[in-house]
Amino acid sequence: DNILSVQNIEKYYGKKGNVTKALDGISLNIDKGEFLGIMGPSGSGKTTLLNCISTIDKVTTGEIIVNDKNITKMRTKKLDKFRRDELGFIFQDFNLLDTLTGYENIALALTIQEINPKKIDNLIKKVAETLEISPVLNKYPYEMSGGQQQRIACARAIVTEPSLVLADEPTGALDSKSSRLLLESFERLNKELEATILLVTHDAFTASYANRIFFIKDGKIFNELVKGNDSRKE
Ligand code: ADP
Ligand code: ADP
Repeated sequence: DNILSVQNIEKYYGKKGNVTKALDGISLNIDKGEFLGIMGPSGSGKTTLLNCISTIDKVTTGEIIVNDKNITKMRTKKLDKFRRDELGFIFQDFNLLDTLTGYENIALALTIQEINPKKIDNLIKKVAETLEISPVLNKYPYEMSGGQQQRIACARAIVTEPSLVLADEPTGALDSKSSRLLLESFERLNKELEATILLVTHDAFTASYANRIFFIKDGKIFNELVKGNDSRKE
């Protein structure tokens, strides 16, 4: 059951005489229910790849298919709806609204979709339990720890039941204990709520929580690690 198919994409930035090749022929596939990590150093093309998948940026060549929809050919008008319906985003810097409580931050996307308050309440309670954030739902972001804020951001990304969750350096602003808690939350989102996750990071510890890890450098995938697939055991 294919959710994402990235087919030989290239991305150039800049104009003649000053061109950067940010992506140099990337191909990858993600099936429903996978937790995929992409690991690479700064400048290797991770954010560019995510921005192309999330249609914030346009590929130069190649195609990206999400849920059988070719998003590289999609019109601008349809793209907003595509992002809202199919994708969940988690950023390094949380991106919560400071004027809303945790609960309200999570509820916002659902409210916009005209889902009734009772159903919203049920959805939020279920996700909050999985992420262990029930005690902070009524707090404002500035009253929470970084780890709690990021788990609220996770809840917001997942509560709309997107086909694919995109996470860009989600542990980048967290200390090691909060990072561990967050990554355990990702594991639960993946196992219990069957979220399909694509996580990019420069950090090996963070990447190690994914089930499959691609290694990227200079805009190319140069290796792959599939966990639990150690041939020495056979
Ligand atoms: P990473 O997320 O792995 O740090 P990026 O995707 O941000 O890598 O960057 C990949 C390459 O593309 C780098 O060489 C970077 O300098 C370049 N790049 C990224 N965004 C732009 C842009 N808007 N304009 C020009 N070059 C860019
Ligand atoms: P890096 O991955 O290189 O550490 P960041 O993740 O901080 O860098 O951001 C790189 C780029 O990702 C930004 O220039 C921006 O285009 C995009 N980005 C980051 N946060 C957001 C956001 N909240 N909404 C849209 N784009 C974002």
